[in-house]
Amino acid sequence: MEIINASYLISKPDVAQCPAADRPEFAFIGRSNVGKSSLINMLTGNQRLAKTSAAPGKTQMINHFVVKSRNSANAKSVAEWYLVDLPGYGYAKVSQKNRKSWGKMIDDYLRKRDNLLTTFVLIDSRHEPQAIDLEFVNQMGEWQLPFAIVFTKADKMKPGGLQRNVEAFAAALRENWEALPAFFISSSTDKSGKTEILDYVQGILKS
Ligand code: GDP
Repeated sequence: MEIINASYLISKPDVAQCPAADRPEFAFIGRSNVGKSSLINMLTGNQRLAKTSAAPGKTQMINHFVVKSRNSANAKSVAEWYLVDLPGYGYAKVSQKNRKSWGKMIDDYLRKRDNLLTTFVLIDSRHEPQAIDLEFVNQMGEWQLPFAIVFTKADKMKPGGLQRNVEAFAAALRENWEALPAFFISSSTDKSGKTEILDYVQGILKS
């Protein structure tokens, strides 16, 4: 997949106020500071699209972007879809009350958004499996919502350590699930993972 253009559309605090569910949609979520904005900017080729976090945990909104893309295997096949930047979870300084409203907003969005095809859950590849990430992923599994996992900041890891953390995460998931979701390894710094993630989106758009 090649991105033709990507532009910001709107930010809303509630799924009921989001744009009409009239295009395929892909969402991105992860812990604050996981590298979500950088990944979105890397994927869309627009370094200013998603705001990298000057104030982590502040953007408690469902952010819609419109993306126009072309199928690399068929230049005539152009698609328009929504890319959604969801607010990060697990930011320590967010109050208990804010955390609750975050939870409701995200749960409602994930469960009610009819056109949502896949959610990319971002995991910082530098860490061993974190409870908060596993909880989120297990919840997605329980709700039977389609998701894929993207390990971020791979450039900061030596191959051995990266593989260890990825395998540990997979092992933690296998404790609960028979089938694992798609896994991607990315770095916004060296642009790795871009082709794989975009081609995965293309595959879902076609199906
Ligand atoms: P967000 O809060 O999840 O949107 O995270 P950001 O995209 O704002 O990134 C948080 C911090 O991690 C910033 O300082 C980024 O420059 C840095 N960062 C993000 N992605 C990468 C990456 O792939 N490699 C490296 N080395 N740093 C990254």
